[in-house]
Amino acid sequence: MDLLPFKPLAAHRPRTFVPTDLDLGDWARMEPLFDRLESRAASISSAAELERWLLDWSEFNAALDEEASRRYIAMTCHTDNADAERAYLHFVEYVEPQLKPRQFALEKIYVAHPLAGYLPQARFEVFNRDVKNHVELFRPENVALETEEAKLCQQYQKLIGAQAVTFRGEEKTLVQMGRYLEEPDRALRQEAWELVAGRRLQDVDQCETLFEQLIQLRTQIARNAGFENYRDYAFRQKGRFDYTPADCLRFHDAVEKEIVPAVRKIQSDRRRQLKLEALRPWDLAVDPQNRPPLKPFAGVAEMVARTQKIFNHLDPELAAGFQQMQDLKLLDLDNRKGKAPGGYQSTLSEARVPFIFMNAIGLQRDVETILHEAGHAFHAQATRDEDLYAYRSAPIEFCEVASMAMELLGNEFLEEFYPGAEANRARKTHLEGIIGFFPWMAVVDAFQHWIYTHAGHTRAERTAAYLELMSRFGGDVDYSGYEASRACSWHRQLHIFIHPFYYVEYGIAQLGALQVWANSRSDKAAALSAYKKSLALGGSRPLPELFAAAGCRFQFDTDTLRPLIQLAGSEMARL
Ligand SMILES: [Zn+2]
Repeated sequence: MDLLPFKPLAAHRPRTFVPTDLDLGDWARMEPLFDRLESRAASISSAAELERWLLDWSEFNAALDEEASRRYIAMTCHTDNADAERAYLHFVEYVEPQLKPRQFALEKIYVAHPLAGYLPQARFEVFNRDVKNHVELFRPENVALETEEAKLCQQYQKLIGAQAVTFRGEEKTLVQMGRYLEEPDRALRQEAWELVAGRRLQDVDQCETLFEQLIQLRTQIARNAGFENYRDYAFRQKGRFDYTPADCLRFHDAVEKEIVPAVRKIQSDRRRQLKLEALRPWDLAVDPQNRPPLKPFAGVAEMVARTQKIFNHLDPELAAGFQQMQDLKLLDLDNRKGKAPGGYQSTLSEARVPFIFMNAIGLQRDVETILHEAGHAFHAQATRDEDLYAYRSAPIEFCEVASMAMELLGNEFLEEFYPGAEANRARKTHLEGIIGFFPWMAVVDAFQHWIYTHAGHTRAERTAAYLELMSRFGGDVDYSGYEASRACSWHRQLHIFIHPFYYVEYGIAQLGALQVWANSRSDKAAALSAYKKSLALGGSRPLPELFAAAGCRFQFDTDTLRPLIQLAGSEMARL
């Protein structure tokens, strides 16, 4: 059985260092390459030779990265396939733990190399900073703990991927159930919501237990690296050189001050339009005028064809990029049982082509997702000719500018999916989603700040902290009778489990995306050209410079938030 959807892919640059027939699952055959890189480093006598050495190492890294991606893609496309699971786990359990100390040894050699200082400073500044950071954080005793962490994360995905319910005689994934929350029939919405909530409650204990194991592991990892808590470690480990935990706390405050009131207003309008006494959790996704849900497309093929047309309007280069993904079958987009939840873009680093994974079921949200993931894919395509592996990917805070700005820019042409009035309705829903996202982002981020700076907290204390944040940032929704579901509503936020502290990036990036959008409203061509230029920089420049190249400020305070929220607000009023 072929577990990968795409056609055979050739390396973008033919290998010159890694043997073409190397089995990248067989450590014994990979190890000699590390030996060679190590021994060669000692005899390097010029900056040019050192640069060649870096490029060979880059080639090896790309091959390893692509192998890991292939196994991850196969596993997430087939969570119920034992071979895919075994292959993925083999890499995570046997290959990666062996790789890490050897990678670390190379990094150490590079940082200490007498010729490193002779490489062009402007070109290698970011690379040097990042490698030095890795070297300072690396602890051999953490390798086994990180393996343990990856296995727990995989268990979480398996647990969530297996969740299904029987709704009116048919088995449905919880993702598929989402569409019933948009149905005008309130009783049906409630029935669907209760069924899903009930199913999630069955896994509460397992989720909490898994999470407690993760907290313990992460705290240990941080302490081994000399940090007081995992938050401070995570900031360093994520290379957050341009902002601090205190900046994030200020961001949360700005969201509370500038955005929460706007969200409450959207909700009270919704409650009035729906003629309800109180909004219940199943009243949040339905159209407030009780129109049936938007149906942008009937199947995945149609979604792809219409998305292609949007890019044809937007830019010929981006359009060609999306077409190439179709030609090479680099898309797995339909929702099936046995597929991991969510959506992601992954890059096959040796072929230097992007892959998109999602679970489309025919909602407007799917249109947003495909535009979003395509933005990531364009980012990967824009850096294709960069030979330094590390520079082909940007920091996440900027990766998400690429994707979120593409949602806003692509929305300009939503008529490809809908007649005019419906396109405006979709745009309005999208903007409401953006505004409504910030408070949830603040909850997810602030919750993790709390979790990892309160060592030894109990399950009850953690729940209380979460509920406190839900009242600070949550809207005006009546959960009475469903308190238990509300208290564990973070369980389905996979980032908290598998990508700790990876969430505030979405908020930071959304501010960048809104700025790109604001710019494009005054000068479309200039905004798109800056966007594309900033993507092509990959990870070669620090965050504030990437933002500047895209025409944005790298700031997330009240002053930056206010005009953007005002623009979104006036746009929503107009639509
Ligand atoms: Zn994204």
